[in-house]
This record gives sequence, C-alpha cells and structure tokens, in this order.
Amino acid sequence: MVLKNLVLLLFITFSIQPLFFIPINSPDRKDFSKIQLTDIGKYGLIRKARKTVPSHLHTGIDIKRPTNNYIDQPVYPIAKGLIISKRIDGPYAQLIIEHKINNKTIWTVYEHIAGITAKLNETVNPDKPIARFMNKNELNKYGWQFDHFHLEILKIKPIRIKPDHLQPERLYNSYTLICFKQSDLEKYFFDPIEFLKENLH
Ligand SMILES: [Zn+2]
Repeated sequence: MVLKNLVLLLFITFSIQPLFFIPINSPDRKDFSKIQLTDIGKYGLIRKARKTVPSHLHTGIDIKRPTNNYIDQPVYPIAKGLIISKRIDGPYAQLIIEHKINNKTIWTVYEHIAGITAKLNETVNPDKPIARFMNKNELNKYGWQFDHFHLEILKIKPIRIKPDHLQPERLYNSYTLICFKQSDLEKYFFDPIEFLKENLH
C-alpha cells in the first residue's frame, strides 16, 4: 500500500513538472509578461528589404535585455532539448534546439546571442544558460540594433544544410527570411508569446 502511494506520488510529481520557462533572467520565469520586446520586436511585423535580404515577415520576437547587465546577461533555453546547430559568426551567432515534449517535437532558435556555452549535440536544460546577450564591447562593434535577442519557435523541422569550414557546426537553417505571407508564417512558426502564454503553467 505504501509503495503504491509512493509510486502514485512520484507519478504526480513528475507529471506536473513544469516544462517551459521564459528564456531570460527573472524572479519569475513562469511569467510571460516579464518578456519585453523592442519597438520592432513583435512577431509577424513586416521587415523592410535590406541590401541582401528581401522584405519579409518577422518570424520571431526580439526580446529586450531584462536588466542593465551589459556584461553577462544570460539567455536560457525555454525547455529541455538537444542542440542541433550552432553558429558563432559575430552578430548572427545562433543556436537551434530540438525539443521532444509530450510526444510532440518543436524547435527553438536563439539568435544575435554571444558567449555561447552550449555544445553541439548537448542536452540543455532551462535552468542553465546557453549563451548571453551581447556585451557593451560587442554592441559597439556590431551595432546597438543588436541590443536584444531573437527567439523563434518552429512547428516544422529546420532545413538541413551542408556545413562549411567556417561554420562546421552550423547544421540547420531556420525559415527566417522566406516568410512573405501570414500563411507562410503560420506554416512554420508559433507566435512565441502566444506559445509561452499557453505553455508556461
Ligand atoms: Zn528578430
């Protein structure tokens, strides 16, 4: 009887274990309202064409630095997952994580990050940082428009790419620059804020 109750207790404990957290430092990492976006940081906004990039819809959110820490402001994964791609080229540094949760698979992308500590093929957890926001020196070098980090949540597996010798651990690409219509966006991506609203409890 005691054993049966113990098994039941363990089952309940594990089944209500929280899975998702916001990806930034906060006294409450279950509170999505702690995520502040930059002025043009909302999901789905039109991004104007640039020299090498056509006009497209913003496929993620641009998350503001939560405090004035310009030294080592941490970036966390939103859930447990496996690092499947790592890109470390300056302002476009990026990690892609595959999450298998409740029989579903989703992918998250963290971009414009720096000081990456996560390794390719490493299992990461939401209680340990994988990178940080750019520090003051990096922002002075690359531009202060990068004073945020870009988060995407994907419904569809990222595109496998052939790594080159400069970025040998960059194995996947997101659909960041190929979403021109609302239907493209909805095919590949969740609105991260909506997703977290539904999944943080
Ligand atoms: Zn962005």
